[in-house]
Amino acid sequence: MSFSTLVSDLTYRDSLRPSPPHTASTTGPTDTRSQISRARSYASTAATSVSIAGEVSSQLHGGYSHPLARAWQAERQLTKSMLIYPLFITDNPDESTLIPSLPGQRRMGTNKLVAFLTPLIAKGLKSVILFGVPLAPSAKDPLGTAADDPQGPVIAGIRLLRRAFPNLFIIADVCLCEYTSHGHCGILHDDGSLNNSLSVDRISDVAMAYAEAGAHCVAPSDMNDGRIRAIKLKLIEAGIAHRIVLMSYSAKFSGCLYGPFRDAAGSCPSFGDRRCYQLPPGGRGLARRAIQRDIGEGADIIMVKPATQYLDIISDAKEIGKDLPVAAYHVSGEYAMIHAAAKAGVFDLKAMAFEATEGILRAGASIVVSYFTPEFLDWLET
Ligand SMILES: [Zn+2]
Repeated sequence: MSFSTLVSDLTYRDSLRPSPPHTASTTGPTDTRSQISRARSYASTAATSVSIAGEVSSQLHGGYSHPLARAWQAERQLTKSMLIYPLFITDNPDESTLIPSLPGQRRMGTNKLVAFLTPLIAKGLKSVILFGVPLAPSAKDPLGTAADDPQGPVIAGIRLLRRAFPNLFIIADVCLCEYTSHGHCGILHDDGSLNNSLSVDRISDVAMAYAEAGAHCVAPSDMNDGRIRAIKLKLIEAGIAHRIVLMSYSAKFSGCLYGPFRDAAGSCPSFGDRRCYQLPPGGRGLARRAIQRDIGEGADIIMVKPATQYLDIISDAKEIGKDLPVAAYHVSGEYAMIHAAAKAGVFDLKAMAFEATEGILRAGASIVVSYFTPEFLDWLET
C-alpha cells in the first residue's frame, strides 16, 4: 500500500467516526485539510507500529540506522590488536605442511616462519601464540623432556621471532601433551593418573624456559591445579615477573572441538582422555571456581576455551575478573565448522567469522585467539 492510498483510506475511515470533542469545537466535519493532517499523523504512527500515546522509548530504529551508529552499539569493536594468531612450529626447520582438518593452516619449521609472517605483520598482525610440534621419533618421553629443549621448536622460534620482529608480541603456550609419549598434559603416576605436584614442577620449569628465551607471555594450558601460583613464584624469584604476562587457560572445557588441533599438534592421548583435568561442558560453577582460583594465584589474563559454545563462561569470567582482560580461544573445531558450513553454502564465510567473533567480544572477551586472524587483517581497517 502506498502512503497516499493509506492516507486516503484513513481519511475515509475518520470521516465515518464522530469527531473528537477537542476538534469538534474548532473544526467541522467538512474540514478536509484537518482530516488529511490527522490522517497523516495516524499513517506515520501506523507505519512504525506505535501509538503516539505510547512510550517514546519504544522507538529504537533511528539509533542504529546508519552503519557507524550500528557499530557504536557494540561495547567492544573488533580491532587487529585484539587478535592472537596460533602458529604450529615443528622440529623440522624446512617443513611447511597444510593441515587437512584445519583449512588454510600450516605446520611450519623455523626456516619458514619469517617469510610466512612478514606480510601478516605488514598488514597489522600484533601477536602470535606458539605451539611446538615435535615430529622426530625420539622427541617424546614420559616427562615431556623436549618441551624446554633449547634447540626445540618453541624456544628456537621465540628467539628467532624476537630478533626478526621486535614489535611482535610473542606468547608461548605451555603444556607437555605435545612432548609426552602418553600424550597427557603432565607427568603420570604408575596407575596412569596425573601426578599433580610433579606436573606443576615440570610445567612451571617449561614456562620459565620460554620466558627466559624471550616470550612476552606464557600461557599454561595444562589445567594442573596450582600451576599459576608456581609459575608466578618462579617468575618473581628469577626477577622477571615484572615483564612477563601470565595468561591462564582457566576455563578449558573437554569436548570434541579440539580434533583438528590434535591433528595439527600431534597431541592425541595414547590412552584415556583429558576429562579428569579439563572441565566438563556443563560445569559452569566449576569454571567460575577455576577462574577465581587463577586470579587469586596471580594470573594477568584469564582465558576461556572453546569460545562460542561457552559464551556464558566468557561472561562469567568478565564478571569475576572485572579488572583483568579476558581472552577466548576460538578453537580449531569452531573454525573448521565455519569453513565446512560455508563450503556447503550454509552461509558466507566472512559474515560468519565476524558474527562468531563479535559474539565472543559481546560476551566479555577483549582478546581472541583466532585462526581467522590472517583474514581479519584483510577485512579490518584498524
Ligand atoms: Zn596439553
